Amino acid sequence: MEDCIFCKIANGEIGSLIYENEYVAAFDDLNPQAPVHSLIVPKKHIENIEALESEDEKYVVEIFKAIKEVAKLKGVSESGYRIISNCGKDAGQTVMHLHFHLLAGKELSDKIL
Ligand code: 5GP
Ligand code: ZN
Repeated sequence: MEDCIFCKIANGEIGSLIYENEYVAAFDDLNPQAPVHSLIVPKKHIENIEALESEDEKYVVEIFKAIKEVAKLKGVSESGYRIISNCGKDAGQTVMHLHFHLLAGKELSDKIL
């Protein structure tokens, strides 16, 4: 989608990727909230979880496979990580392209709010 920053990053127009395959891409967050803070996105422009259709099944599977790959690349598979996907206004979603935050590299707060 034109004018979508994550579409541009995912298709290699700007920034740099840490992982990609035919369906998904991953890159480090511009404003990290933890020692490891990466974002995993589908290469198809899907706004968020609410916008997922059954035809997007392959992207969902590939996102979770990519999460494991990124955790391995970052060396946090064993120590652990947190996955967050903000969906819509009340969650504070700021970029309207489905993305999963992978946070790791320290003991994360047990607060979710
Ligand atoms: P949200 O609040 O929508 O769940 O998260 C959006 C995330 O995208 C934020 O953590 C923000 O720092 C990150 N972000 C926004 N613009 C860019 C960008 O141009 N490049 C990268 N790498 N991250 C971005
Ligand atoms: Zn997009």
